[in-house]
Amino acid sequence: MPAPLHDHRLWTGTVGDRPPPSTIGDHGRPSRGAARPGSGQSGPMEPQYAHLGEALGTDFFSVREQFTDEQWERFATVRKFVDAEVLPEMGGYWERAELPWHLFRRLPELGIVGETITGYGAAGMSPLACGLVHMELHRGDGSLGTFLGVHAGLAMQSIAMCGSEEQKQRWLPSMSTMQRLGAFALTEPDHGSDSVALETTARRDGDHWVLDGRKRWIGNGTIADLVVVWARDEADGQVKGFVVETPAEGYEATVIGGKVSVRSVWQADITLTGVRVPEENRLTGARTFADCAAVLASTRGLCAWMALGHATAGYDAALRYAKERTQFGKPLAAFQIVQEKLVQMLADLTGMQLYCMQIGRLAEAGRLSPTIAGLAKMNNTRVARRILGTARDLLGGNGILLEHHVARHWADIEAIHTFEGTETIQTLIVGKEITGIGAFS
Ligand SMILES: Cc1cc2nc3c(=O)[nH]c(=O)nc-3n(C[C@H](O)[C@H](O)[C@H](O)COP(=O)(O)OP(=O)(O)OC[C@H]3O[C@@H](n4cnc5c(N)ncnc54)[C@H](O)[C@@H]3O)c2cc1C
Repeated sequence: MPAPLHDHRLWTGTVGDRPPPSTIGDHGRPSRGAARPGSGQSGPMEPQYAHLGEALGTDFFSVREQFTDEQWERFATVRKFVDAEVLPEMGGYWERAELPWHLFRRLPELGIVGETITGYGAAGMSPLACGLVHMELHRGDGSLGTFLGVHAGLAMQSIAMCGSEEQKQRWLPSMSTMQRLGAFALTEPDHGSDSVALETTARRDGDHWVLDGRKRWIGNGTIADLVVVWARDEADGQVKGFVVETPAEGYEATVIGGKVSVRSVWQADITLTGVRVPEENRLTGARTFADCAAVLASTRGLCAWMALGHATAGYDAALRYAKERTQFGKPLAAFQIVQEKLVQMLADLTGMQLYCMQIGRLAEAGRLSPTIAGLAKMNNTRVARRILGTARDLLGGNGILLEHHVARHWADIEAIHTFEGTETIQTLIVGKEITGIGAFS
């Protein structure tokens, strides 16, 4: 029996008074405030192209029919939040590079903080539901999604995967409610893709450790209460994980300015000068770089979902715009070459959806390997950049205006393309698996 949550109205449309669409993959319906046919003018009450950011529910291969109730519930919750609360104001925050604190605070209220972690007040989502949440958040905005990815996907997961039971009890509950924010400090000014060669040191001094070094690109680094710092133990040369509780003497973080992607989440340059960390803040299960890499591998598949969210936003906006915008006396969508672009975008998007569904299923079966996740991240990020490039093109000049949403996604996909292993590095990791030859290490 279909559960009530499978009512299409819950997810194909937006909240509010939009009439329910007739089918799941409803690609054809006009939006509120649509241009009058042939006039090129907006409706009387709303600005032209007012609903470009909102979801069309694109699902050409009906993959979403396979969702469980739990997955539907998470998906519908975030979709409503994005359409009703995020889209109306995100462009302004992005332009001003301001943190949308009131939207951040909504995340624990929606019960989506803590990824797949069970207990400790965390969300305890299934892997597929977790992917859907990140997809929808990124369909809304990349900064918001990145903020959650750093806090929950990286910082909370480091503690959940590498912490002792006592450490999990100490930190995770307040992170689940976001009373305390997390950061994950691995990258250094001289070590990005080769973070395995990191130079930040940890020296044991009685019942403390002393951390010295520099970190770069650390999301939430200026606002986090708990910063998971990866440093090399001077005694045995191994990389270990330490939780620095801020403010801490010798910990200095400054926001990296002038950024043209994910502007409403801040990354930091951090210097650690003799920062003293008690032994009980050393993550007991983080003994070598492999433990850090395991945390990163757990979040890599989510990057594929994030890219899907951005691409969906681009496709939906472009399709809606092509039907509303008239040139040469006809809607753009009436021109063959425009239809070809839209169909290619749909083909790309559908492929991304299938990638995501399958990595979700593999994760649920405990069979998602780092290289499968890596291939999904590589493919989806690459394809999303292509889709967003076409979407930007189809909107013409409006494609570079924040008010029409596409430009923000077009810029934000660049962050995912680079963080958590660049497209090239993911390619080399998969290349090593299929050839048996390591090309970079
Ligand atoms: C928005 C954003 C948020 C981030 N958040 C965090 C965070 O919260 N915590 C954290 O620790 N880090 C974070 N990072 C850092 C991120 O993980 C690194 O930027 C990423 O690993 C790449 O490192 P890099 O920028 O130093 O580039 P580099 O490693 O210098 O790479 C530059 C170019 O060289 C290529 N390249 C590198 N090695 C090879 C090779 N062997 N063969 C061929 N090509 C190669 C790369 O693919 C890339 O194209 C963030 C980065 C960004 C942009």
